[in-house]
Amino acid sequence: MGRGGASALNAFAGGALDRASDRRHDSAWVAAQTRDPAARAVVVSDGGVRVNGDRLALVPLAAIDAGEPLLLGLDEHGPVFAVGDGGSPGAARQIGLRDAAASLPQADGALAAYAAALVHWHRRHPRCSVCGRPTAVAEGGILRRCPGCGAEHHPRTDPVVIMLVVDGAERVLLGRQPTWAPGRYSALAGFVEPGESLEEAVAREVAEEAGVELGDPIYHSSQPWPFPMSLMVGFVAPWLSGEPRRVDGELEDVRWFARSDLADAVAGRPAPLGVPPRLAIARRLMEHWLVTST
Ligand SMILES: [Zn+2]
Repeated sequence: MGRGGASALNAFAGGALDRASDRRHDSAWVAAQTRDPAARAVVVSDGGVRVNGDRLALVPLAAIDAGEPLLLGLDEHGPVFAVGDGGSPGAARQIGLRDAAASLPQADGALAAYAAALVHWHRRHPRCSVCGRPTAVAEGGILRRCPGCGAEHHPRTDPVVIMLVVDGAERVLLGRQPTWAPGRYSALAGFVEPGESLEEAVAREVAEEAGVELGDPIYHSSQPWPFPMSLMVGFVAPWLSGEPRRVDGELEDVRWFARSDLADAVAGRPAPLGVPPRLAIARRLMEHWLVTST
């Protein structure tokens, strides 16, 4: 992409680990990683992730007496695991994932998102969805296998399309959900449904939420979004026809904003709207459009 494009990384992207995809099928190798004195772990709790100063804490695995370790991959010092920690509140400093993305180095934020999404999936999927028996961690945690029927269950990632609908360089279509901070507007978004392409999801969601028709959406970038385990797929989409109106009740308001109003909001000047924080891909889509459309 050009100026303001996808060359800069989205928050939660940019992980630096070798995921060891070519070795994790070897259970003896995985077991050896858990015994490695250099093994460390990201500790994930309901409150977020454990930190040490201004870095994500990597706690020696041998010092952790908590859940089953899940192998995230290898860094230059050795194996890195994720461990879910249900207890010990207050024993160490924890921060929420949004704060992690905002305050830690890029790769630490990505590692936090990876660990949190994986721990969450394992917690929520202890049993086989085919036969109901308890399943076991396999391949270091990138899989659960059922000892009863042999079914393999892969950690889920839920794709969400998020699209900035624009009318040339003049105005931009934004919506707001009732739970957001007062005055905040953002790009429209929604989950991809079974049997649907990303482009089709973009068109359907915008028709459902705003009642307008689009031309072909242009892909911008994507973002791991660990709330709890989504992948945001970002587009800029040209408006074709129809005037925005609330259709399905999911949004409290949906309307056009002038380019100058959005530029003011993004720059932190007084504006008739608030915009999402910098860690949101919606904000990057807005900045991209302001820089590249003329
Ligand atoms: Zn089963």
